Amino acid sequence: MGLEVEYELHAMKELLPRSLFEKHPEMFRMDKKGKRQRSDNLCVHSEKALEVVCANAIKIGNILKPTTGRYFYWIDDARDMCRCDKCHEYSDSEQALILENRILKALRTIDKNTTLAHLAYANTIMPPEKIKPDAGIFLEFAPIHRQLDKSLKDQKGSDSLQTLKENLAVFPVETAQVLEYWLDVSMASKWKRPFVKLPWYPKVFTADVATYSSLGIKHITSFGCGIDKYYYDTHGEPPIKEYGNSLLLIRNKE
Ligand SMILES: [Zn+2]
Repeated sequence: MGLEVEYELHAMKELLPRSLFEKHPEMFRMDKKGKRQRSDNLCVHSEKALEVVCANAIKIGNILKPTTGRYFYWIDDARDMCRCDKCHEYSDSEQALILENRILKALRTIDKNTTLAHLAYANTIMPPEKIKPDAGIFLEFAPIHRQLDKSLKDQKGSDSLQTLKENLAVFPVETAQVLEYWLDVSMASKWKRPFVKLPWYPKVFTADVATYSSLGIKHITSFGCGIDKYYYDTHGEPPIKEYGNSLLLIRNKE
């Protein structure tokens, strides 16, 4: 059918099993009070933790093998990162990038053309400064705190066009990807069932696609969570055709 398959997932619990906490608490994140915590993420300055993560990244990569060579192993969903003596000077984005640079290196031992996403999202929406992405890390910009009824150009706050531009000063635009929320029924429903009919703002959508495209971004995607049988039975057809047609218009202009 010509379809490409990729897997995008918050994967820290699989990459660093929580069962290791009792024997190796130093592999896990330290909270603000100086206590190691079993839940969420890891200490990116624990060499042992990075070794376990990399070994599991390869194992998972051999099972969930993308057809594009593009991997997405996200940190835990907007959860705390490490505040130990070594980590605390690094922002959450920088800690994520330390981890991603290492995972990329590991994945390249099974596939030399591997690329890996740096997810700019929630606590990692601001660009890293102290750490630079290795060649093969690509930006994935997911502005979850945006308002869906206003175009990206009109967003206030952190999830803005300005923040995207700042990220594009660090990461290459050629490989950058946008992960948007235009079709995210679960977000529109505040992640609570029963899910509502998708609020669809065609002018915002086409303006956003034009903005992303004008920056040189070629990978434009959206969450589509919650578009299921219940949705079709209750609300009818979602605007997937309009979505696809607008993206095609941009592609045909190139
Ligand atoms: Zn740490």
